[in-house]
Amino acid sequence: MKDHSPNSWESRADRHSFYGFTDLPTIHDRGAVILTGGHGPYITDVHGRDYLDANSGLWNMVAGFDHPGLTEAAQAAYAKFPGYHAFFGRMAQETVQLSEKLIEVSPFEDGKVFYTNSGSEANDTMVKMLWFLGGAESAPQRRKIITRKNAYHGVTAVSASMTAKPYNQVFGLPLPDFLHLTCPHYWREGLEGESETQFTARLAKELEDIIAHEGADTIAGFFAEPVMGAGGVIPPSAGYFQAIQPILKKHGIPLISDEVICGFGRTGETWGCEAYGFMPDAIISSKCLTAGFFPMGAVILGPELTERLQAASEAIEEFPHGFTASGHPVGCAIALKSIEVILDEGLADQARTLIPRFEAGMQAIMSSHANIGEVRGKGLMGALEAVRDRDSKTPFEGHLSVSERIANTCTDHGLICRPLGQSIVLCPPYIMTDGQMDEMFSKLDAALTQVFKDLA
Ligand SMILES: *Cc1c(COP(=O)(O)O)cnc(C)c1O
Repeated sequence: MKDHSPNSWESRADRHSFYGFTDLPTIHDRGAVILTGGHGPYITDVHGRDYLDANSGLWNMVAGFDHPGLTEAAQAAYAKFPGYHAFFGRMAQETVQLSEKLIEVSPFEDGKVFYTNSGSEANDTMVKMLWFLGGAESAPQRRKIITRKNAYHGVTAVSASMTAKPYNQVFGLPLPDFLHLTCPHYWREGLEGESETQFTARLAKELEDIIAHEGADTIAGFFAEPVMGAGGVIPPSAGYFQAIQPILKKHGIPLISDEVICGFGRTGETWGCEAYGFMPDAIISSKCLTAGFFPMGAVILGPELTERLQAASEAIEEFPHGFTASGHPVGCAIALKSIEVILDEGLADQARTLIPRFEAGMQAIMSSHANIGEVRGKGLMGALEAVRDRDSKTPFEGHLSVSERIANTCTDHGLICRPLGQSIVLCPPYIMTDGQMDEMFSKLDAALTQVFKDLA
């Protein structure tokens, strides 16, 4: 199906575009899908084919690909003030307004916001803030950062060190001082005969032990996604955050909620920390912050970290950090509109009404395919894990690339979904209709039937 002629879009993409996070055998075999645009939840390729994008782009395009309100807000913002920075005591009106709005919709009573261009940079910025605090508060040894295996916090050298995935070994990462605890995935990590409650208690004990072993005064912060996204849509085991938060509090270790995916309604609540009933010290936001219409990230600081960082900055007269496009006026205008669309105009409510249909669809797939070992998720994000054998949880042989096969077959059926490890991830945009959701599941069902038959 790949058009190998030298002037095809596929060949042109191959020649000068360096692919990241892309399965190269698939590209050599099938070619990249080159897109012209999108409408609603669909994207269109250069051959005029439409695909239903069950991943909202990369978790972010929750309002679809042609939302008129967002497009108009972007056009108006470009006409008003096409770009500026937030250094040297200058910033755009829109930046001021967005910070007010973010604190208003955050779980915090008060706080401050720092802007970046991406989620990776927001995590990087938060780590630098914590290191800065260590230095300023006469605790320069307080540098260690704790995350969990399978966590995804980004790709910069620091955030990749927090992203506890084996593939980062090819870069010689993690950097020193980044510690990775057990992934709170009961189905995969639970021991023989261990109940979910016992599993959670074991993970809490692991945290206690590592704090005792490393020394509480060497640990700068603990970062967690409420639901792990790129790790394979892994909700925490029951009671997980209730078990770990008191331990962190007792030792004065800030808990940072990486809400890059969970924020703005994905879990059914505005924030993932609300869905799981915990109160973080800061929130990392990106992705849905602009509904994917502008690259932007934000560190949203709660009151205590705000106060401490303010004092530390006053002491040396500045916080020496910032990106050229931090607080970009167009990005801020789009984020303001996006928050209005999602939270004030009811898009998040619409997403919430879709959740039962989504969950039922996932369960139905599990019931009709013996090679699905686990269905998991929260709100409008879910994963189906393929297994050779459900009872023993035996995975398919790695060389079979089962999830790549499923995703490629879905693409052939006009559906975009994402392979992640041995699982398939679904993360539909909030604008999906019931009919489009049924289309998503029937195409996935057909692809699974085909692949599992081929691999039987
Ligand atoms: C995507 C993601 C990031 C990184 O965001 P980028 O904008 O790709 O740098 C960080 N944390 C989480 C939870 C993410 O899903």
